[in-house]
Amino acid sequence: MKEVINAHGLRAKRSLGQNFLLDPSILSHIVKAAGSLESRTVIEVGPGPGGLTRHILDHPIDHLYVIEMDSRCIEIMEELREHYPKQLSIIAGDALKVDCLQLGKPPRKVISNLPYNVSVPLLFQWLEHIKDFESLTLLFQKEVAKRITAQPRTSDYGKLSIMTQWCCDVSMVFDIPPGAFLPAPKVTSTLVNIRPKSSPLNVDPKALQAVTQAGFNQRRKMLRASLKSVVSDPLSLLEKARIDPTRRAEELSVEEFCDMANAFSTF
Ligand code: SAM
Repeated sequence: MKEVINAHGLRAKRSLGQNFLLDPSILSHIVKAAGSLESRTVIEVGPGPGGLTRHILDHPIDHLYVIEMDSRCIEIMEELREHYPKQLSIIAGDALKVDCLQLGKPPRKVISNLPYNVSVPLLFQWLEHIKDFESLTLLFQKEVAKRITAQPRTSDYGKLSIMTQWCCDVSMVFDIPPGAFLPAPKVTSTLVNIRPKSSPLNVDPKALQAVTQAGFNQRRKMLRASLKSVVSDPLSLLEKARIDPTRRAEELSVEEFCDMANAFSTF
């Protein structure tokens, strides 16, 4: 990988969130965490110099789509495609603008060392269509991974936990220290596995988003006060949802947030 990076003069650009992974053992563990790739459509955002890409291509996948914004990395991918003409497709552009549901056929798995600056918007985008994915195996900054997987009554619990966990089972797989990346970022990274639940909770995600946002915008306040930003009469809403109005957002389970969102939808 170092040879590839040197041959292409690929100096990492901070503006593109470039922190490359070169250690074959770490790369292989990331791909393993995604489970079987046999006959799967795999999507990788930001292949960079292609460390993870090469490990994915070692598996009996159906097809790999890589989405990349940096023209220097696209050149590297074009060289790689010469060895995998049937398995590898390159999409040049911003992953936020790519409709992943147009890529290959299900079951789709996403595996990515995400550019940290767009990691959460990308996650939200995929969650909107989570039924069309089999799994998302994603490397985040540890602080974001903790928020995705957080449980009630912890400081990390919030909108990201609830918007992910109502429809997905989530787990942190392992940490990767800054020194494993080139260049080393300031913080530890954590691999997270996200799999759609076979029976997601019954809720309108837009309503869930609205009550979660309101509840956590003022997380220390009681719900009877914090929900005033979305409803004029929070007490009636909470009575309908059978939730004690003196409780605070961070004390509610994901199920209770769904009860509140369902009451909000018909309010
Ligand atoms: N996968 C490589 C690895 O593990 O070494 C590189 C990962 S690096 C953290 C993130 C990659 O995402 C970079 O190659 C960067 O150019 C690319 N990138 C940044 N923003 C992007 C975007 N909006 N859409 C697609 N790719 C992006």
